[in-house]
Formats: sequence, structure tokens, C-alpha cells
Amino acid sequence: MRPTLLNPLFTNIRNLSGVGDKAHKNYLRMFGSDLIKDLIYHLPVGFVDRTNMPDLTYAENKTILSAVVDVKEHFPPKPRSRQPYKVVCQNETGYITLVFFNHKGDYIKNILPVGQKRVISGKVEKYDGILSMTHPDRVVPLSEIKNILIMEPVYPLTYGISQRSIIKTVQLAVNKIPELPEWIEENYCAKNHWNSWADSIRRVHKITSGKDLEPTLPTRQRLAYDELLASQLALAISRQRNKKQKGYSLKNAGTLRQRMLDGLPFTLTKGQNQVLKDIYHDMEEPSRMLRLLQGDVGAGKTVVALQAMLCAIESGKQCALMAPTEILARQHGASLQNMLEQAGLNDRVTLTVLTGKEKGKTREAILHGLEQGSTHIVVGTHALFQEHVTFANLGFVAIDEQHRFGVKQRLQLTNKGDSTDILLMTATPIPRTLTLTLYGDIDVSLLKEKPAGRQAIDTRILPKSRIDDVTSGLKRAISEGNRIYWVCPLIEEDEEQQNQFAAVETRFKELNCLFPNRVGLVHGKLKSDEKEQVMAQFKEGALDILVATTVIEVGVDVPEATIMIIEEAQQFGLSQLHQLRGRVGRGTKKSNCILIYGHALSETGKRRLQIMRETEDGFRIAEEDLLLRGSGEILGTKQSGMPDFFLASFPEHNELLLAARDDVKYILQNDPKLTSPRGQNLRTLLYLFSYDEHIGLLMSG
Ligand code: ADP
Ligand code: MG
Repeated sequence: MRPTLLNPLFTNIRNLSGVGDKAHKNYLRMFGSDLIKDLIYHLPVGFVDRTNMPDLTYAENKTILSAVVDVKEHFPPKPRSRQPYKVVCQNETGYITLVFFNHKGDYIKNILPVGQKRVISGKVEKYDGILSMTHPDRVVPLSEIKNILIMEPVYPLTYGISQRSIIKTVQLAVNKIPELPEWIEENYCAKNHWNSWADSIRRVHKITSGKDLEPTLPTRQRLAYDELLASQLALAISRQRNKKQKGYSLKNAGTLRQRMLDGLPFTLTKGQNQVLKDIYHDMEEPSRMLRLLQGDVGAGKTVVALQAMLCAIESGKQCALMAPTEILARQHGASLQNMLEQAGLNDRVTLTVLTGKEKGKTREAILHGLEQGSTHIVVGTHALFQEHVTFANLGFVAIDEQHRFGVKQRLQLTNKGDSTDILLMTATPIPRTLTLTLYGDIDVSLLKEKPAGRQAIDTRILPKSRIDDVTSGLKRAISEGNRIYWVCPLIEEDEEQQNQFAAVETRFKELNCLFPNRVGLVHGKLKSDEKEQVMAQFKEGALDILVATTVIEVGVDVPEATIMIIEEAQQFGLSQLHQLRGRVGRGTKKSNCILIYGHALSETGKRRLQIMRETEDGFRIAEEDLLLRGSGEILGTKQSGMPDFFLASFPEHNELLLAARDDVKYILQNDPKLTSPRGQNLRTLLYLFSYDEHIGLLMSG
């Protein structure tokens, strides 16, 4: 149960004065929550200096200033004219005209009574020596001057909430916060000059200078540390629990594995062998395996996964491979089946594919096979784990492109199997800081080298004005038997609900005129069997060009495709470009990638695309991407399951992240159930960040 101490923070913001239905709705939309705790963690991103009170005569254009003025004269516009309402004010330093559009009733008369003094604040404009202020931010009587002449925080906002109201609401919320017991170790707090939690919250909303916004400021560091400590602790708790659950020790002669190797037309790379050694070691251990396998596209992860599965199967276990999309699941199914056949293992090992699309009798038969244990490998989408699928003896799960599954789904999955070993696979190289934030201290294996014999992909960068050269070059490329991907970005949907797929559709039509019946189109709006049909035609060679959105980003395997053209390349993340480019260069033929940029490029934009030319090293590309764009972008978008940190930011808080990891290690070694006095305080921290479920794990042992 959440300590009652936290109740004021878990109170609905509706209870704050001034927050009505409409504001409530807007806040809810902004935070995805309507609790005070989320409002107080909404940190200022800037400030307005209202202490600036220059002489009005010398005030500069476009600056923000405050002034004490006498209200001189009102100039209402003629009825029904579009002119603004003007009020002339004056003080000993000069004149200023206040300007209001869309005025209503007597509002202006009331706030600016002629002959009285008012404090005004806002942005001024100066034309021909005449100073004006359109819609002052503040107009108050002299008695309230001390509330005006301040450094005012600026909060990030969504439509519908004004700075003025959020400042007020945040202040009301901050006034309600309780003092909380200290969960950070005393010496560490002292060393960093950190204040208590409540003090830090109060301070972070008070701006005295631009320095107060720096992530390196002790106050901001402390709050970031709280957030990191909570997430590291939560991850470690679920990890601790997984390790404690007894796994199976899978030890066997390795006959199946060997037969597969004998059937492959290639030998494993040194990297693949090393990774497999790590994996077998984990599987032999009686505790559960949780390992992340990072390897660039085409590095050979699928082969590794199948080897590991055969190890589990030889010990009598069933295996599952989960893919993020149906297309990928089917493709994986086909390629695993193919390898089994090459090895002559298709009689010994049965494989089936299960997605949301298998229905009725087919589905029943598949479920029956899994329940009986007669099916050894199932490849599928997350439908595998959500629906009523029971396994006779599930021992090993591989999750491909794992970051596409949310944090929640991952926890569900770990809770589902009794003691299954888990191998997470990703082609998105995740820098160390990110793996730590995503998984805590997880075991990581890297597949750095690619199988020998792969050819470098020749990458070129062209402006859109040269697109005709590109299309005319295609004629020859096609006659030489090349197959081509042509990728266009989605168009941001605006208020007019513009068609997101306009760009691909237009490109498809144009190319289809040039190459009739040789061009296919796939995008997210198509039904998956339509998509698959087009993909299959492309794979068979019935189509030469496949125009697509990023649906082809992961896993599509057409070794005959040798040309990748990406339009508006500047809009994509580098890692995404890298993934897309990885669709070609899979066969023995030389491959090309053409990045076409739409607008004039910024310096950063140029540098980014340049990196794509310089390297095919996905790890380097990911690091650069992290530097240039930040973490959320690397893993795709919000749905990626990347924990969204509100307080911590990287790379500024890298050190804090490492410290939190070490702290958590120490804490759980000495107090694994969090029962000591500090342990109790840490529980409060976990509740504060809504890790209730993880505290549940502590209780259940
Ligand atoms: P990933 O899943 O990492 O993108 P895959 O396992 O699908 O990569 O492998 C990509 C391609 O490389 C496949 O066609 C596979 O058969 C081939 N491959 C895998 N390992 C090797 C190897 N050691 N030598 C040569 N080719 C390999
Ligand atoms: Mg793969």
C-alpha cells in the first residue's frame, strides 16, 4: 500500500483552485495524468525576466519590460471596425501605448482605469520612436508589484493552457507538497550539495537566473537522480526476481546444433561462435537467462537464435520467436524452416507460425500442437503471449527487434513463462547508457563483424532537383536485373487530415507511368495480406521497383534488391536510414543507396547525411544519432517503449545514471527486500514514481 504520506501528491489537480473541467482536460492531455505529482515534475524550460524596468524613452524594440505607469487615455475603436483598442499610459520616463485586439465588454476599462497607477509587463515594439505593448502579459494594481517584478518560469505547454495559468497552478501544487523521508544516501547527498526532495521541488520552480535551467545544477541533478534511482531500482527488482526463479539447466550433447551447422552453406563467424558460447553458458546455468544480442542488420542474429533454440529443443523444451510485425514473423518462420530443411532436421523439429491471422480450425490445431508439445518452435507476433496460448514446456524465447515492444509487454512476457530463458535481439545498436536505462544491468552480447563476402554499399547524397537523373538511371539498372526499393516518408498529419501517404502514392504513380506494371506500392494503410502479396511479387521478381514507407524498415529480406532510394532523407533518423539501407547489400551483387534531400540542408543536416556516406558501422551511426538527436529518436518514436525521462537527460546525466546503477547494486545486496530504514524510504521513492508493481514483486519474494 502506498504510504499515506504521499497522498497529497496523488491528489487530482482538479482540487487546485482555478482548475476546472477544461483545464483538467488539457492537463490530462499534456501529462497523460492528472495528479499533482506529475504537475510538480513539469519543469520550467526557460524564464522571462520581468525585473527589467528601463526608461520608456530608451526601451528597445522586441524586449520584455515592466513599468509602473499612469493610465492617461482610452481610444476605443469605431464600432465594427477591425482596429484595435488602444490605451495610452505614461510615467516620468516616457509614454507607452497598450494595444488590444478582440476586446470584449468593459474589460479593458476595468483593468486600466484612467487616472490610476498600474504595473504592466510584456513585450514591447517600437516603430518611429513610438513604444507599444500588444496584449500585456500582466496588468496589476501597484499593491501587487512584488508578484510582477520577478524572473518568471516558462513551462512547455500544449494548446489550451496559458503560461499565466500554469505558473499559478504549479505554485498551488508546490505549496501542497509534503516533506518526504530521504532515500538518497546521506554522504552522497552531502557530497553533491543536494537539498531535500521537497526543497528541490520548490527551488526548481523558482528561477533567479538562466543558470537555474542547467541540468548540471544541483537541484536538477537531485531530481534527475531520484528518477534514475527509481527506474534502476525497479529494473533491478524485477531482474532479481527473475534470477531467483529457478531456471532449467540445459545441458546436452549438441547433436541438433551440429546437424544444423553441417547443413548450412557457410560457417559461423567468430563473433557468432562467441555469442553462442555466452548463450550456452547462460542456458547451462540453473538461473534464467536474460541477454540482449545486438547486431547490425544482416549480422546473422537469426542463425544464432536458431542454434540456441536447437539446444533447448534437444533438452526437451519448446521455443518461441516473437517478431514485431506479421510480415516479419512469416519471414522468420520461412527462413528458420529453410535452415531446418537444409539440415534435414524438418522431421525432427516442427515449426509453426502463429499470428492474429490464424483463425478457426487452423488456429486450434496450432494451439493444440503447442499444448501437447508436438510443436517445437513457434514464430509469431505478440499475439503469442497475449492470447490463451499454453505451452507444454516453453524453455526459450527470442524476441526480435525487442525495443518495439513496450516495457510493460516485456514484463508481461517475463511473468508468463515459468522459467524461460530470454534472448532479446536488436539491430538498433543501443549505446550503453540506453541499455542501462532500458534494462538495468542486463547481459549484452555484440555481433560486430558481418559475415565475410558482403560488399560495401555505395552511398550517394543528391538534391531533389536531380530526381529525374535518378529515375532515368533506373532504366538501365532494371535492364541489368537490379531490384529497387524507393522509400518516401509519411507526411505529418495536420488539422486538415491530409493524406499521410500522399508522397508514396504520388511517387508510385509517376514511376508506374515510366515502368508500367513493374512497380509495387506498400504502406501502412494496406491490409497485411495485400502488403504481403506485393512484397512476394517483388521478391519473386514480378516487380522491379517497390515504393514504400518505412514498413520495409526491418527484416525484409530480398537478396536480389540492390538499390535503395530514400526521398526526403533528412527527415529520417540516422539509425533508421541505416536500417533502411541494410535492406540492400544482402546478395553478392554490388549495391547502391541514394539519399535524396528535399530542402536546402542545415549544417547539422548535412553532417548527418555525410555520416551515412562515411560509414556502415551501425554503432557509430547510433552514437552520432544520439549526439545529434537524443535518445527517443534512436529507438523510433514514443511507442518504442523507451522510458521517457522527465527529469534526467542524456548525456548530461550519464554519471548520475552510473551512480544510480552502483547504488542499486549496493542496496539490493545489503537489503534485498528493502526493509531497513533506508529501504523503507526507497519504497516511498518507488511509489512516488508509480512502480507499485515492482514493490509487489518484493513482497511476493
Ligand atoms: P540478422 O537477423 O542479424 O539481420 P540474419 O541472421 O537474417 O541477420 O542473416 C542475414 C543473412 O546472412 C542471411 O541470409 C544468413 O543466411 C546469412 N548469414 C548468417 N550468418 C552467416 C555467416 N556466418 N556467413 C555467411 N552468411 C551468413
Ligand atoms: Mg533479423
